[in-house]
Amino acid sequence: MRTAIIEGEFRPGERIIEQRVAANLGLSRTPVREAVRMLAADGLVIATRHRGAIVRPLGRVDVLDLYELRARLESYAAELASTRAQEDDLAEIDAGIRDFAAAMGRTDLDVLDKTRLYSQANRRVHTGIIEASGHARLGHILASTIDAPLVFEAFREFSQAELERSNNFHEMIRDRIAEHEPTRASALMYEHIMEGRDRILASLDAAEDGGAVRRSARKRLTQVNPANPSARTVRALRVHRQHSVSVAADVSCRRAADRCRCRFGVSPGRTRCPRGRSSR
Ligand SMILES: [Zn+2]
Repeated sequence: MRTAIIEGEFRPGERIIEQRVAANLGLSRTPVREAVRMLAADGLVIATRHRGAIVRPLGRVDVLDLYELRARLESYAAELASTRAQEDDLAEIDAGIRDFAAAMGRTDLDVLDKTRLYSQANRRVHTGIIEASGHARLGHILASTIDAPLVFEAFREFSQAELERSNNFHEMIRDRIAEHEPTRASALMYEHIMEGRDRILASLDAAEDGGAVRRSARKRLTQVNPANPSARTVRALRVHRQHSVSVAADVSCRRAADRCRCRFGVSPGRTRCPRGRSSR
């Protein structure tokens, strides 16, 4: 369930129906209820009065709060690591950096599997630095922040240049830690996390803009005569196609978009959408 939330299979705000989850996993409701309770303790799920447990919705303010916290705490971890890291700590950070580079070279994987590799490698680097800080409480506080659902979402949308930049930051931070330069290691970590924040905010903005454009395009499309599309319809279709949804004039956009959980929709007949999320 944790993976499903982090990878966006359960969308923010979506209800978690214990009975359905239990049936899908072939379990009784008791372990599912216990899992929901643990996820709530980690802040991934919230209990609501009328709808039961829902996946915690993450808006702008949540991203700002989460990343400000991460930037400060992880830069402190990098600072401490610069004076406390042992050889095996550095070896672990190096392994994460190598994993990240190896993931960039994989051409045989789809978007979801590649994103999983980036996410794991990134976690290995960051956890390695936190471990190297030798501050157990700091590690405990940070444990639930690296795997936030939006972090995974951001990696999914990273360009090759952004991935390389991310791993460059990992290398620079690692080198400052190895050279026992706490101020520089800390400043680099702060900047690395804040760049991640900016990336997530940008994709949130794009999703909001895209959502508004798509809603208005759908509305217009459902009102037209498909046998004789007007110039307005043709324009609306063009807007709609920009969001990776290709539809014929006689197929309602709503039907096409509803096939996929992806907020950008999916072409009719496809089982995987272009952004790597599987259809319902
Ligand atoms: Zn990172």
